[in-house]
Amino acid sequence: MKKDDCIFCKIANGEIPSGTIYEDELFRVILDLGPATRGHALILPKDHASDLYELPEETAAGAMKVAKQIALKMKEKLHCDGLNLVQNNGEAAGQTVKHFHLHLIPRYEGDGQEILWNPGSATKEELDEVRKELTE
Ligand code: 5GP
Ligand code: ZN
Repeated sequence: MKKDDCIFCKIANGEIPSGTIYEDELFRVILDLGPATRGHALILPKDHASDLYELPEETAAGAMKVAKQIALKMKEKLHCDGLNLVQNNGEAAGQTVKHFHLHLIPRYEGDGQEILWNPGSATKEELDEVRKELTE
């Protein structure tokens, strides 16, 4: 289903033109207008889901299949040295558009981007505690 006031619904369904690099029945892949690196693309499901929590499991699986295909294409055609898959949920995680999207960010040696996190530390007790919370 489409959501009327959602810009990515409009883009995914072709109501607003975009730099499309792939399309099928369920997804459109577009170039990000504010690319982190050359080739930065977004996989958009055509049906609206605000984020990963709302996304149907089959669509999540489908998005990863598309990601795999586009990743290979980027490696072959753009000769990137690496590639990050990024998917933000919630403002705290940096989500600015509330329609699920999976970023494909080709990486180039010395591209100056900092997409990885700062590693922290945890005690064995803290790790045990969170493991229990997540497995109960
Ligand atoms: P988020 O921060 O929500 O994970 O990512 C949103 C992304 O969408 C940003 O990288 C931003 O540059 C991109 N973006 C926002 N509006 C548009 C648009 O209208 N067209 C395209 N192609 N990208 C957009
Ligand atoms: Zn939408």
